Amino acid sequence: MSTVLNIALSKGRILEEGLPLLARAGLVPTEDPLKSRRLILDTNLPDVKLTVIRAADVPTYVQFGAADLGIAGKDVLMEYEGDGLYELMDLNIARCRLMVAEPKKLAESDDPQNWTRLRIATKYVKTTQRHFAAKGIQTDVIKLYGSMELAPLVGLSDRIVDLVSTGQTLKANGLVEVEHIADISAWLVANKASMKIKRKALKALIDRLAQAVGQASPRQG
Ligand code: ATP
Ligand code: MG
Repeated sequence: MSTVLNIALSKGRILEEGLPLLARAGLVPTEDPLKSRRLILDTNLPDVKLTVIRAADVPTYVQFGAADLGIAGKDVLMEYEGDGLYELMDLNIARCRLMVAEPKKLAESDDPQNWTRLRIATKYVKTTQRHFAAKGIQTDVIKLYGSMELAPLVGLSDRIVDLVSTGQTLKANGLVEVEHIADISAWLVANKASMKIKRKALKALIDRLAQAVGQASPRQG
C-alpha cells in the first residue's frame, strides 16, 4: 500500500527557485510547471504530486489538508493567522526583506523615532498593524494587492510596506527603505495531521529536502 503525498508550491519567485531545490532533493515534475496548464503535476516519484498555486493560498491548502506539505514565503506565513500547520524548515530560497519605504524627499526630513501615526499602503495588512502596534504607533492601513510602490506617487499613502530584494523597483520610483520589519525566505510547512498519519513517507521526503538545503545551490555559488 502506498501513501500519496501532495506538495503545494507558490507560483512566481518561489516556484523558480524551488524547482532546482526539489530537483536536488530528487523530486522532478514530469511536466514543466512553468509551461503546463495542469494544476496537479505528477513527479518522478510515483506517490508524490505537486500543486502550483497562488502564494497566499499555500497556507490554506496545507492547514486544511488539501496538501500535506507546502512551500510558502515567510511573508505569507506571517500574514496568515492559522494554527493548523507546522513551520518545519527554512529553505533558504526567495530571500528578501519586508520593509517600510517612503519617498526620498520625505525621508530627508523624516525620523522614524518620531512616528506616532502612519498612513501605509500594503498587501501585508495584519503584519503591518502588528509591527507598529507593538511599538505604540497608530496606523491607517490601505490594502492593496500589488504595485505598492505606486501608492505614494499618487497620494494614496505616505509610506508602503513591501518586499525588497535588490531595491531596484523602489529606486525606480523614487522611494527609499526607512525601516526593516523582517527577513523573508521560503519555508517548508506541513499539515499537522499528515505529520502523524503519513509520518514515515513524509519524513523520508523532508530528510531529502533538508539535505538539499544544505547543499550549495548554483545561484549561491
Ligand atoms: P500573486 O500576485 O499572483 O499572488 P505574488 O506577487 O505573491 O503573486 P511573487 O512576487 O512571486 O508572487 O511572490 C511570491 C513569494 O515570493 C512571496 O510571498 C515572497 O515570499 C517571495 N518573493 C516576492 N518577491 C521577492 C523578491 N523580490 N525576492 C525574493 N523573494 C520574493
Ligand atoms: Mg509579486
